[in-house]
Amino acid sequence: MSGSISTEAANGRAAVIGIDIGGERVKSVIMVAGRIIDRSIRLRDAPITAMLPPLIEAAIRDHGVTAAGIGIAGLVDHPRGRFVWGPHLSDTGVDVSGLLRPLLDSSVVDNDANCAAYAEWVMGAAVGRRVALTISVGTGIGAGLVVDGEIWRGAGFAGEVGHMQIGGGDLECPCGRHGCWETMVSGRQLGIAAARLGLEPTAEALARSAAGGSPRAIAALRLAGGWLGVGVANLMLVLDPDVVVVAGGVSLAGDLILDAARDRIASGLPGRGHRPEVDLVNASDGRWAAAIGAAHLAAEHRSSGALHDRGDE
Ligand SMILES: [Zn+2]
Repeated sequence: MSGSISTEAANGRAAVIGIDIGGERVKSVIMVAGRIIDRSIRLRDAPITAMLPPLIEAAIRDHGVTAAGIGIAGLVDHPRGRFVWGPHLSDTGVDVSGLLRPLLDSSVVDNDANCAAYAEWVMGAAVGRRVALTISVGTGIGAGLVVDGEIWRGAGFAGEVGHMQIGGGDLECPCGRHGCWETMVSGRQLGIAAARLGLEPTAEALARSAAGGSPRAIAALRLAGGWLGVGVANLMLVLDPDVVVVAGGVSLAGDLILDAARDRIASGLPGRGHRPEVDLVNASDGRWAAAIGAAHLAAEHRSSGALHDRGDE
C-alpha cells in the first residue's frame, strides 16, 4: 500500500492534514486534492507534545496522509517550525517540526491566524484580492495579511493585533497587560458576557440567544461588534486592505457583530466619504478557516519539494 500512497503523493493527490491548535479547541481537517474529506474537533486537554503525535498517527493510519500543516495560536517561528509562545497555551518553545519529523516526510508550522487568512485567500471570501486582511476572533484575536498571494510575516511575528492596547478599558488580558483589544471582543469576552446573562459561558450560547431574539444578548453582541470596528478601523489606517474578512468562532453571530463593526467604522474612520467603504465580510468557513489554511500550506509545502522546516540545526 505504501507504493500507491507514494505515487499519489508524487502527483499531489495524497491526503494532507491541517490542524488548528487554539486556546480551547483543536480542529483538524483531512484534504485530498484541495477537497476536505473529513473534519474533527476536540477540546485541547493536553500539551502539544502529548496531543499532536497521536493525532497525526491516526490520520496516517486512517487516511494515508503524507504531510501536515499546523496552525498554532501565538508566536510561531515559521522557518524553524517552532511554537515560541502564546498567552492561551501553556506550552512554550516547542519544536513542532522536530516532533513530526519521525512521523511524516513533510510538515509546516505557522500562526493560526496566518493559516486562516491563507484559506480565505485561496478558497474563501478573499479570493482574488490583492491586500486581504483576515481577523480571526477565537479565544483571542489574531490577524493574517495576504499580499499578492503571500502571507506577510513582518520580521517573523506580524499580526498579533489582539494585544494592541485600544484604550477601551482596563480589563486584564491573558498576555499579562491591560486593555488589549481582545479584552473588548473575543470568544473569551463573549463567554463572559454570556455568563452575565445566565447563559452557558460561550460565544455560541450568546449567539444562539441573540438569534432567538434576546435583546440583552443582541446588545452584548453589538457592543462587541463596535469594539471589533474600532480595531479594524485602526488596522485599515495602517494597512489599507481591499477586504477585511472576519473568521473564528464569532462567525456564528454573523452580521449581528459585523453590522455593529461596519457602523463604527463608517462613523469613525478619518477620511470617510473620501475613501472607499470597507468591504468587511464573514469568512466563508470561519470556524474552520485556520485548519483548512494549514492543510493548503501543507499541500503546497509538500509539492514544493520541501520536507520539514529546517529545524534547529
Ligand atoms: Zn493582551
